[in-house]
Amino acid sequence: MKIAVFSAKPYDREFLNAANVTEGHQLKYFDDPLELETVELATGNDAVCIFVNDTADAAVLDALKRGGTRLVALRCTGFNNVDLKAADRLGVRVVRVVDYSPNSVAEHAVALLLAINRRIHRAYNRTRDSNFALDGLMGFDFCGKTVAVVGTGKIGRVFTRIMLGFGCKVIGYDKFPSPEFEALGASYARPLEIGSSADIISLHCPLTPETFHIINADSLGRAKRGALLVNTSRGGLVDTEALIEALKSGQLGGAALDVYEQEAELFFRDLSSTIITDDVLQRLISFPNVIVTGHQAFLTREAVTTICQTTLRSVTEFETGQPLSNEIRTS
Ligand code: NAD
Repeated sequence: MKIAVFSAKPYDREFLNAANVTEGHQLKYFDDPLELETVELATGNDAVCIFVNDTADAAVLDALKRGGTRLVALRCTGFNNVDLKAADRLGVRVVRVVDYSPNSVAEHAVALLLAINRRIHRAYNRTRDSNFALDGLMGFDFCGKTVAVVGTGKIGRVFTRIMLGFGCKVIGYDKFPSPEFEALGASYARPLEIGSSADIISLHCPLTPETFHIINADSLGRAKRGALLVNTSRGGLVDTEALIEALKSGQLGGAALDVYEQEAELFFRDLSSTIITDDVLQRLISFPNVIVTGHQAFLTREAVTTICQTTLRSVTEFETGQPLSNEIRTS
């Protein structure tokens, strides 16, 4: 099948080409993201392959349909950027990669957490400048602390297992509690309890209308003073202005973010020679107790290999009329 691959980075091309050896599709790569301004590039392609910051809203889906596209293949887990109702109405099917490597994201969350707690980012810069002073670098032991996991799905559970290994107590909140989470040795708690007792809060739920700004002035106000927040899920879970206020007042001890609400305009590109006009992100990055990575939690060889193989396999299933193992359904 002809597939237009949007937001294609060098690693996407390398791993998709490798996966395509067995699938035999015609891949056309575009650096540009999919959006209304670029959707014409997809004309004549049976499928589009898109990533987290591409736009597949009703207008884009409508244009895709008119151009002959019948399948949207997300090479990611989250699908908040696709209007599923519009896709359903138009008869455009949507697939994603449900399960690639929850380890990749959970391990990145732990890496960020260790770095922000032990100030590794600051120590790295200091020692490069022959500054071996330790002032301002004090962290706390993870062992014995309480970690709250919001969203106890695949990634949340791997993160839980690792934090239990540190000797932490792990409490979780999920709209759909799972016995697998409790079987790890963790327990569920009410949102209020999570806020007041957690030394560390890590977000692993999807972005939905219900979870939009789940971390806001209210929830931050109820958090334990000095708690650390980790977000490797989606930027929209956090009200960034409220986060900045909580960091300024010391209510929050630090934040480690792999995702940012307005990341679509910024992430996945080298902007080092341009002036960043997003004052909110610039303010965040200026804090010594904030680390931002540019949505890289998924970026391991294992994860990207599985993402590319699963994506192209889904297109093959579609082409050959098989049931779509990774289809996202509206109902
Ligand atoms: P998953 O579906 O296995 O787990 C998500 C969990 O969130 C589920 O248990 C679900 O019940 C729960 N949930 C749903 N609505 C909720 C709500 N309102 N409140 C609390 N919990 C709720 O998904 P996963 O594979 O663990 O991925 C989790 C998220 O991680 C994805 O949605 C995606 O946004 C993000 N992600 C980020 C990266 C990255 O590179 N940074 C990569 C992959 C996934």
